[in-house]
Amino acid sequence: MMRFAYLGSGSKGNAALVQCGRTTVMVDCGLPLAEAELRLQRLGLAPDQLDGIVVTHEHSDHVGGIARLAQRHRLPVWLTPGSLKGWPEAPAECIRLISPHEPFELGELRVEPFPVPHDAREPCQYVFGDGRLRLGVLSDAGSVTAHMRKLLSACDALLVEFNHDPVMLAKGPYPGQLKRRVGGDRGHLSNAQAAGLLRGIDCTRLQHLVLIHLSEVNNTPEHARAAAAAALNCSESWIACAHQRDGLDWRELR
Ligand SMILES: [Zn+2]
Ligand SMILES: [Zn+2]
Repeated sequence: MMRFAYLGSGSKGNAALVQCGRTTVMVDCGLPLAEAELRLQRLGLAPDQLDGIVVTHEHSDHVGGIARLAQRHRLPVWLTPGSLKGWPEAPAECIRLISPHEPFELGELRVEPFPVPHDAREPCQYVFGDGRLRLGVLSDAGSVTAHMRKLLSACDALLVEFNHDPVMLAKGPYPGQLKRRVGGDRGHLSNAQAAGLLRGIDCTRLQHLVLIHLSEVNNTPEHARAAAAAALNCSESWIACAHQRDGLDWRELR
């Protein structure tokens, strides 16, 4: 059995949990220490029950809370050499370097990293598996590559960035440079781009689809859900959104 949950998702701080048997890993932590501990408790876990933290990239909404959490609870932190270079505050004694091209074992979990186009030093995302079930995570990418499609195909659960609605982004309050960054090939996925990814991969095994990293300014859960439901030809109520403040409660893969 595998299960997953979110402490929070969005540009104010991301953190997810993936659990398989006795192994529990956190994916990123962009929340302050007290907030992370509180939200872990909300999900029934103490920080010292974590086996470590897997990092996607060095942007502060993903690593901002890791140094204190990892140091206080002596947690290993897995990341690429590029992510380490881009993160001067990284807790040196906790670091375990990985290649974004090589799967590795983490307790009972098999972790498959894959590189993604995003404006960080060496960003990657992950597929977590137990040998039977596969859970794909894609939180930050500006565009979709053939390699991403291959890795995220035939997953049993997908957690996918539905960042913005292009019309809301264009009409919204962001300055022009930031609009171009978010909408660019190394920025963030629009609802249409993420829906296009779902259309381009095998979703027949999917037990859970969770929309993550939604912009609170340039998107609404309704817009994102509608795009995802149209792509999968399923009801909108089947699709979950991970919330910035409330995260997402545990969901099980069977
Ligand atoms: Zn992010
Ligand atoms: Zn980012």
